Amino acid sequence: MSLTVVKNATCTFCGCVCDDIELHANAEKIVATKRACSLGESWFKNHTAERLYPEALIDGQEATVDAAVEVAADYLVNANMPLVYGMSNVTCEAQREAVSLAELVGGIIDSHTSL
Ligand code: SF4
Repeated sequence: MSLTVVKNATCTFCGCVCDDIELHANAEKIVATKRACSLGESWFKNHTAERLYPEALIDGQEATVDAAVEVAADYLVNANMPLVYGMSNVTCEAQREAVSLAELVGGIIDSHTSL
């Protein structure tokens, strides 16, 4: 099986955002990293392109993304104090959207770093 080599990949695991990582991947998994630290190597190697889960779940049952978004929106709109939480390992654009969502629903926002 041939490997795809990606040079200057960016690691978003810890916040240092190293952008000189070289990745070697087969069709589904990253199998080698160059210049990533042990945390970055573990992060990259534990991602897969395999479909391990359905695109969306509602109450544990497979659902369409559109249906799941509708249910999530209902939860957020009807919540007393919605919490938008997480944002580790996501892009700046995704964080920006999370802040917008928290503002839209009158909620609060927090990241995993508060642990
Ligand atoms: S390679 Fe290591 S130091 Fe660099 S961003 Fe990833 S986890 Fe952080």
